[in-house]
Amino acid sequence: MSEGSVAGHPISGNDRPSKAYKAGRQCRQTGCATILSIYNDGQFCSQHAPMVVPRVRGKKIA
Ligand SMILES: [Zn+2]
Repeated sequence: MSEGSVAGHPISGNDRPSKAYKAGRQCRQTGCATILSIYNDGQFCSQHAPMVVPRVRGKKIA
């Protein structure tokens, strides 16, 4: 792994000060009318959000 390309990320002027997302978004799951929380950065409601497991238990990657 080479370092050195870490710096050089210009901050776009599109950043919002508050960590909230567009309100009134609907779950992308077909047939689900759940309105997503503005704090939900995903496209699905909590019931339909794809499972994202940060760590796989009992399995070592790399
Ligand atoms: Zn849903």
